[in-house]
Amino acid sequence: MKIILIGPPGAGKGTQAEKLATHWKTPRITTGDLFRQAVQNKTPMGLQVQGFLEKGALVPDDVVLGLMQERMSGPDCKSGFILDGFPRTVGQAIGLETWLKKTEMVLDAVVVIDVPEEEAVRRITGRRQCGACGSTYHLQFQPPRQDGICDKCKSLLVQRKDDEEKTVRHRLKVYAGETLPLIDFYKQRHLLRQVDGVQKPAEVFQTICSLIK
Ligand code: ADP
Ligand code: ADP
Ligand code: ZN
Repeated sequence: MKIILIGPPGAGKGTQAEKLATHWKTPRITTGDLFRQAVQNKTPMGLQVQGFLEKGALVPDDVVLGLMQERMSGPDCKSGFILDGFPRTVGQAIGLETWLKKTEMVLDAVVVIDVPEEEAVRRITGRRQCGACGSTYHLQFQPPRQDGICDKCKSLLVQRKDDEEKTVRHRLKVYAGETLPLIDFYKQRHLLRQVDGVQKPAEVFQTICSLIK
């Protein structure tokens, strides 16, 4: 399966990408995680993108496309992938399309997860992430068994700096301006599947599976 997940910050892309990746035994590629790792490791790319992430602004298309072409050329991506958080601009979508043609790969579907702005804000401001394994929780909606501790690896949970409300509001504006045009882009290519994200995670997952079979 070659799937793209699109949705505003907080829609549940990461949550669904993890389930889909397990279900299809396919790699999940999350641009946000790749950038955060690069920032943490202070790589040249990390130093270049840090300011964009902190402000909640998009990383320039050429940097994103360079990173993704390298990642998607990995042997594990030959049979499929779940793209979580990429593409986010029409420029990135065109870059991806060109690259897929060159490598003779064909997308199966582009899934848009819709949630209203206030739900997105509630989800993001309550989101907590494991500093070690990256697992995601929510203070109310998906709490860990023990406060502040990852169920899977027992490390401490932290809040992403860009998940504070002010930055979240800005990221939602960026989504509306830069990413929403992708809906028409993929509609024209008959790839778009829209899913109501305001359901339990398991229900969202079932809906996605029923739409992309
Ligand atoms: P995204 O990758 O789109 O930003 P996440 O998957 O990280 O979204 O989810 C954002 C927050 O909302 C997380 O804290 C997650 O635990 C929670 N969440 C995800 N899906 C749902 C859902 N269907 N209902 C309630 N909370 C959810
Ligand atoms: P969320 O899951 O909440 O939508 P991400 O973890 O996907 O957030 O992204 C975090 C940040 O990483 C973005 O605000 C942006 O700075 C950067 N980023 C991630 N993906 C892209 C992309 N495809 N294009 C440009 N910037 C990106
Ligand atoms: Zn963990």
